Amino acid sequence: MTSTSFGSPPARTILVIEDEAAIADAIAARLRSEGYAVEIAADGPAGVSRCTEIQPDAVVLDLMLPGLDGLEVCERIQANRAVPVLMLTARREESDRIKGLTIGADDYLTKPFSPPELVLRVAAILRRAKAGQQEAADVKQLGPLRIDTTAHRVTVDGREIDLTPTEFKLLLTLAERRGRVQA
Ligand code: CA
Repeated sequence: MTSTSFGSPPARTILVIEDEAAIADAIAARLRSEGYAVEIAADGPAGVSRCTEIQPDAVVLDLMLPGLDGLEVCERIQANRAVPVLMLTARREESDRIKGLTIGADDYLTKPFSPPELVLRVAAILRRAKAGQQEAADVKQLGPLRIDTTAHRVTVDGREIDLTPTEFKLLLTLAERRGRVQA
């Protein structure tokens, strides 16, 4: 818990999966000083189970880990739920870095990195994840047709259309079967 914030939302939890204690501690200290709640797991399997237990808002994940490597961990934690992942790599792991991004890491940072840089990256993946979830959950876009399922608002080319609740429901059903919609 932090006492540094005034009127801000509850601290978001970051899970740091890193086997080098000095690096893990440095990352944790920095993130805590920025108001995050931080948990550390020191190997791959511990990271996966900790992630299930605490449901963190984001994960900082080292690529080279004992037990399961970072790519494997990334796949497993993404299988359960979408959680933003910042992958940590060493310079020699360049090609793995790219691979990591393609299997679900949201961003990567090459060691050695500066703590302020890490904090910026974590904030960025949290922001993007939030925006992405919001968009996916709330809005369906089909060509000029845009259906906001939360606000129950439908627009075509930006112009709002009035629909009864029944019409709205019908349109939504049709939109979910994309191919049949005549926009
Ligand atoms: Ca490592």
